[in-house]
Amino acid sequence: MRVTAVRPVTPRMLRVTLGDPSLTGASLARPDAQVKLFFPRPGQSEPVLPAPDPDGDVMRWYAAYGAIPEARRPWMRSYTIRAHDGAAGTVDVDFHLHGGEGGGAEGPATRWARGARPGDVLGMFGPSEYFAAPVDPGAGDWALLVADACALPALATVVEALPPGHRAVAFVQVADAAEEQALPSPGALTVHWLHTADGRSLVDAVRAATGLPDGEPYAWLAGEAGAVRELRRHLVEERGVDRRSVDFAGYWRHRLTQDDAPTPEDLAEARERLASREA
Ligand SMILES: Cc1cc2nc3c(=O)[nH]c(=O)nc-3n(C[C@H](O)[C@H](O)[C@H](O)COP(=O)(O)OP(=O)(O)OC[C@H]3O[C@@H](n4cnc5c(N)ncnc54)[C@H](O)[C@@H]3O)c2cc1C
Repeated sequence: MRVTAVRPVTPRMLRVTLGDPSLTGASLARPDAQVKLFFPRPGQSEPVLPAPDPDGDVMRWYAAYGAIPEARRPWMRSYTIRAHDGAAGTVDVDFHLHGGEGGGAEGPATRWARGARPGDVLGMFGPSEYFAAPVDPGAGDWALLVADACALPALATVVEALPPGHRAVAFVQVADAAEEQALPSPGALTVHWLHTADGRSLVDAVRAATGLPDGEPYAWLAGEAGAVRELRRHLVEERGVDRRSVDFAGYWRHRLTQDDAPTPEDLAEARERLASREA
């Protein structure tokens, strides 16, 4: 993918448009369309990636990627297709420019985004059901959507896919008022914005929420992994939401990068996600 445009959405959210002839035609725009992006290492003008597997065997391709010596292996990070223009052959990806809030340095993806210029080259794999089942925001009587700043691009695609008039309540945490975005939706959407500086967590806000719509919700939760786990526990154990109606994903982890090995909690979460999909 070649960068064709870069523009700020808010002070901490940067929209990068990526173009490639393979992006023309069929629509990639769907709610929560996850991709893996591959970022070049220092000294590389583009990421060094294995050629596509001749039989389309993704696991074999991934093994070849993993076999590249670490110093040359492009960093792989998860992102969301914010929008797709099939006529132009481009996708938009919104980068939340985090910087140390997670207890570590900003990370290669964010560093790359800050310096992105038209002509820069990235690798992209997906969207693919290998790593994400399709979501259906209209599945419940109403939708409860919870996201932090880096999950806001995905949440924006989820609210765009609500059925017309469908009730939805969103809780979104961003740094401050300048980070709030318009969230167009055909649904009947109410958004509660939380600002990090106010010190109130997403978990506290959802726990304290009263007057939520009646009926069985479909819940979509994405953000820091520990917060997402706590939210899911609250919904299932304290509010009696059916665990099969909760789509949840840890998007990042305090003090850990996406290269770091999964923690026991991450593995337990992956098992639960699989189990609830099979149920
Ligand atoms: C399915 C999925 C979709 C995603 N979609 C998007 C998207 O569209 N846009 C987007 O901006 N992000 C998205 N993310 C989150 C993004 O992948 C992570 O934030 C990723 O860690 C960024 O990589 P990095 O190289 O900047 O940081 P890393 O090298 O992974 O981490 C470096 C340090 O930064 C901290 N850190 C990482 N992410 C954050 C954060 N969000 N806030 C505060 N501290 C952080 C870590 O704790 C670590 O200490 C998505 C994640 C998933 C799993």
